[in-house]
Amino acid sequence: MAVPVSQAWTVATYVLKQKLMGRKKYPLVLMLEPLFRCNLACAGCGKIQYPAHILKAELSPEECFKAVEECGTPMVAIPGGEPLLHPKMPEIVAGLVARKKYVYMCTNALLLKEKLHLFKPSKYLSFSVHVDGQKEHHDFSVCREGGHDIAMEGVRAAVAAGFRVTTNTTLFDGADPNSVRAHFDELMIAGVESMMVSPGYTYDKAPDQKHFLGRARSKKLFRSILSNRKSTWRFNASPIFMEFLMGKKDLTCTPWGMPTFSIFGWQKPCYLLQDGYADSFQELMETVEWQNYGTESGNPQCANCMVHSGYEASGVNYTFGSLKGLMQTAKAIFFSKYEDEGAMKLLNEWKPASHGPLVQIASSPATHSASELQEVSGD
Ligand code: SF4
Repeated sequence: MAVPVSQAWTVATYVLKQKLMGRKKYPLVLMLEPLFRCNLACAGCGKIQYPAHILKAELSPEECFKAVEECGTPMVAIPGGEPLLHPKMPEIVAGLVARKKYVYMCTNALLLKEKLHLFKPSKYLSFSVHVDGQKEHHDFSVCREGGHDIAMEGVRAAVAAGFRVTTNTTLFDGADPNSVRAHFDELMIAGVESMMVSPGYTYDKAPDQKHFLGRARSKKLFRSILSNRKSTWRFNASPIFMEFLMGKKDLTCTPWGMPTFSIFGWQKPCYLLQDGYADSFQELMETVEWQNYGTESGNPQCANCMVHSGYEASGVNYTFGSLKGLMQTAKAIFFSKYEDEGAMKLLNEWKPASHGPLVQIASSPATHSASELQEVSGD
């Protein structure tokens, strides 16, 4: 099972309750960003380019609990920045667990091993470790040599200590599907509960603008990765979202599905875009002109987006939207191999692209611009 039965039951009953109440727009996962500070400076990230005073700011535990209560989601993801840099993260996590929220604490795991003792294993807590691929690919993606080995050491330590551990893999142009499949094997062997995979988003603040995937290339890549699936792989994403990534399903974005709360307030309209902020969750829901977002809207910022934070809730909504949705989801769960000769051919003929040089951003990202990227290796 990709998630514990109690979690699947909690989410299913929450969604059905929203449907019975006739709520057309409801949130599913709160994206709680208590800080933007990070101990990595990934080239595809749009968060770490803020000035130093923003990077120093953080939400208090009370502000986090208030946001959780305001939006009422059964699940809370804590991205950032690197949450383990927040001095009160253990208190925030404990408070959310006490409120019976299913928490995914996202981390690059550089500090996970040394901070594990500050947390208690719980069915409500999962460390969602950011690992973008096998060693070479992950190190390139996070602009840090050795980042992969440290992250995997953190994964193994957390698994050994009895924590739920999931992973979060973001793919950019140049990803090698054969290597991604081998990466899935490695994660399963390391004992992770389940994996999540998503294409990256073209953050306009990200230093590396060359490696984002367009929609057609995303579908081709995900078809080759997720077809002919191994029975040992477990995923913690909606099966319908995964069919969407493979080009088997059309979904429209649900930008309110994963609302984001940070030091700036409630972010409009989604986790990825910053078209202003609202002071309350209610104000967010009432003041965003939702029709202006999503690929169908023609908004150029949404043109290539297929990311998990926009479409996972769409997949869940599809499942619970009709009997057909339920049947198709059940089929996707029980017949998850997706045999596809064309995809196998793609895999066999795929020529891995060179990453180009690994760029490593030196010292504090707060004080360095993209032009200060330092080449540390090349091929
Ligand atoms: S398509 Fe992507 S960028 Fe646009 S609103 Fe949806 S999640 Fe946000």
